[in-house]
Amino acid sequence: MTDSHAHLSMFPKDQRRLLLDEAQEQGVSRVLVPATGREDLEEVAHLPEELDSGVFAALGFHPHQASELDSGWKAKLEKLLALPGVVAVGEIGLDYHYMNSPKEDQLKAFRWQLRLAQEAGLPVVLHHREAWGDFVVVLQEHPGIRGVAHSFTEGAEGAGVMVGMGLYVGISGMVTFPKGENVRAAVRACPQERLLVETDAPFLAPVPHRGQPNRPAWVRVVAERVAQERQVTLAELEAQTDANFTRLFLEREKPA
Ligand SMILES: [Zn+2]
Repeated sequence: MTDSHAHLSMFPKDQRRLLLDEAQEQGVSRVLVPATGREDLEEVAHLPEELDSGVFAALGFHPHQASELDSGWKAKLEKLLALPGVVAVGEIGLDYHYMNSPKEDQLKAFRWQLRLAQEAGLPVVLHHREAWGDFVVVLQEHPGIRGVAHSFTEGAEGAGVMVGMGLYVGISGMVTFPKGENVRAAVRACPQERLLVETDAPFLAPVPHRGQPNRPAWVRVVAERVAQERQVTLAELEAQTDANFTRLFLEREKPA
């Protein structure tokens, strides 16, 4: 099984190995770790080398930190993408909920990082919150972009929009929340070859672990609920989401 989105860098250094071992015991053998900005970019870039072969990295500036993506950080980001185990640009996108960076800065950073990914031949890990209209418009400006809309919350229709653009839909522990009917609707509507599962650890712990720091091992709880919603076995769901992860992140297209 694969946790397609876990912020291992947000856990103390001495816990990371233990979290991966615990995940492995639950059959979770691969974890993609997205960076969020200047505090963790370099650290995340080196995690695949430091930890093991099942750990991959996505490098980028989260919309909260979009204002800090200056020319120096752009150069650093471009350079770090070449490290082994770095398989995507992310997480990037738009978040109009907190507005930690002004909208204009978010749009600029999002567009620049989408171009960077296309030039590097890499997929993207996309974050969206309360910015759906602009999010879709900016993605439409980049035809052919490959990637996943992580912790997807926009329901069946939104999932259709993502799939129509060739993107994948990432399902988090929100699928288990009582108020997660929009997420469950997306799960049921999405073609199975476009679904990924994730924890977004340390955030969004699934029922029955809500309120605790989330951990990669609990992607199994997410996958169980997704399988139940789709009325398939966990084994089938696991095989399909694993294959989807491999296709999206590990069979990379070489830049022209
Ligand atoms: Zn995240």
